[in-house]
Parts: sequence; structure tokens; C-alpha cells
Amino acid sequence: MKTAQIKERNGSMVGESINRSRSEEVMVFCPNCKALQTVWLDGDTLMPTVKFLQLGKHIYHNCGATQPCRLFFDR
Ligand SMILES: [Zn+2]
Repeated sequence: MKTAQIKERNGSMVGESINRSRSEEVMVFCPNCKALQTVWLDGDTLMPTVKFLQLGKHIYHNCGATQPCRLFFDR
């Protein structure tokens, strides 16, 4: 994993992805339980993931977090 090259973007909305037309791997960080996990986005849509759900442009962890996860795009 090339964590050092991951640059944090401002905000936490999935629509900030550059490549909206193709799927990409994104690191999500839950501000509530500090979980860090890789998920896939298909454009600006979260691909089915067990522990995360998408509401609008934000991704939430299923740990009871009321704040959206931060997204780290790998480019
Ligand atoms: Zn969480």
C-alpha cells in the first residue's frame, strides 16, 4: 500500500473524485471510531460495502457515526 502518496482532499464528498466515469479505490476514515478502510467508488457511487453506506455525497460507517467519513483519494 502506498499510503505516503495519498493526498487528502478538502471535504469528504464522493463527488470530488477526478475520475467520475470509472471505479477507483478510496480510503475512508471514520471520525467516530477511527476505522480506516479501503472501499471502491464507481464514479461517485459507493460500491456495495458491508460496513459503510452512502447518503447523498457522503459515506457513513455503520458504527453509529453521525459524521461522514473522510475520504482519501489515491491521486
Ligand atoms: Zn466508525
